[in-house]
Amino acid sequence: MAYETLILGAGAAGMMCATRSGPGTLVIDHAKAPGEKIRISGGGRCNFTNMYASPENYLSQNPHFCKSAMARYTQWDFIELVDRHGIAWHEKTLGQLFCDGSAKQIVAMLVEEMKTAGADLWLQTSVTSVTRTADGFRVEVEREGQPQVLTARNLVIATGGKSIPKMGATGLAYDLARQFDLPLTDTRPGLVPFTFSEDRFKPLAGVALPARLSNERTSFDEALLFTHRGLSGPSVLQLSSYWHEGEQISVNLIPETPVFDLLRSQRQEAGRKALTTELARHLPGRLVDFLTPEFDLKGRLADQSDAALRDLSDRLENWRLTPSGSEGYRTAEVTLGGIDTDALSSKTMETKTIPGLYAVGEAVDVTGWLGGYNFQWAWASGVAAGSAIAARREA
Ligand SMILES: Cc1cc2nc3c(=O)[nH]c(=O)nc-3n(C[C@H](O)[C@H](O)[C@H](O)COP(=O)(O)OP(=O)(O)OC[C@H]3O[C@@H](n4cnc5c(N)ncnc54)[C@H](O)[C@@H]3O)c2cc1C
Repeated sequence: MAYETLILGAGAAGMMCATRSGPGTLVIDHAKAPGEKIRISGGGRCNFTNMYASPENYLSQNPHFCKSAMARYTQWDFIELVDRHGIAWHEKTLGQLFCDGSAKQIVAMLVEEMKTAGADLWLQTSVTSVTRTADGFRVEVEREGQPQVLTARNLVIATGGKSIPKMGATGLAYDLARQFDLPLTDTRPGLVPFTFSEDRFKPLAGVALPARLSNERTSFDEALLFTHRGLSGPSVLQLSSYWHEGEQISVNLIPETPVFDLLRSQRQEAGRKALTTELARHLPGRLVDFLTPEFDLKGRLADQSDAALRDLSDRLENWRLTPSGSEGYRTAEVTLGGIDTDALSSKTMETKTIPGLYAVGEAVDVTGWLGGYNFQWAWASGVAAGSAIAARREA
């Protein structure tokens, strides 16, 4: 069967690409349903974009690469699409936009847009082989147990990264990149909880507080959550993308106020108060209990010298921890790294060496922060490739 364009992967980027690439497009996915990650994202409400999305919110070996696609398809373009489909939404925090109802509305919207554009969708279809031909590509697939041969002038790699294999993630994008001699940057899990050995934080499981998580590269002020196995919550997930195995991180447990000033003024006003009582005004009680032996918290405020208060403030503002690892691809929201952007045109997502071969979405070495940024990259890169394919056809 001959198609104009084959898109491998009916995820966020692949479906968006198919809404633009024009007639003769077939989208292939091995999953039972399209857009499975969209469906489960944002706790079932899909954090579909971010009002403040800009290139600074992305990690890549080439931080400039995402600029062109993101400028040509912005968060406002996606909001306009969502509005056109009558999907109600709200801002939760920090510019993060969620559906009022269900993430399934976003999947349905993309499926409808694909249909309107004339694209076909084959689910439960696995890719057996991909080869190059004189005028495009030959893709062997197995659909409902039947082998089929497809040909197309354009091939779009939109099979995402390695995160959450249980949801259908495979390394197909990287295998194809290797097959076609496209360079790859190192891949590792991103937006992922930290683990600590010996269940260090088990007694604190469930405790949450606002915190500032930092390392020498960056810093995030968002919620921190202690879990049975370690640390999670938005601030941790964000920092995890900037962390490498074995590195130390710093936690500021009271980021809003300089702790030394706070304790010193309380010592003056209420010196008889126990140090732990004062700390429990600013931190969850269970955390104060946990820190009492660790930070040697004892006595009344009046008993503390300036030096002791300064030392304690430093520990609370710069609690140095070394995660033993991360939860890995099993729970990571994204995969950092991927197809090297050097191999692609930033305008069209087409590979520079193989005409008609494109890569979009998470498969590419562009990874967003937590907060709707990853979907915005999927939409923008999908539109860039789809529009380029359609424009070439018209030319
Ligand atoms: C739990 C979770 C929650 C998330 N929440 C958010 C959020 O709220 N906001 C946000 O911006 N980002 C979120 N993300 C990240 C976001 O889902 C991804 O960045 C985005 O889906 C990437 O889009 P993509 O199209 O490149 O890849 P995907 O959406 O992963 O799509 C890839 C598609 O390719 C298919 N595929 C893979 N291998 C093969 C193969 N060998 N053969 C055939 N088909 C194949 C898969 O089945 C899948 O349908 C979340 C991720 C997770 C895991």
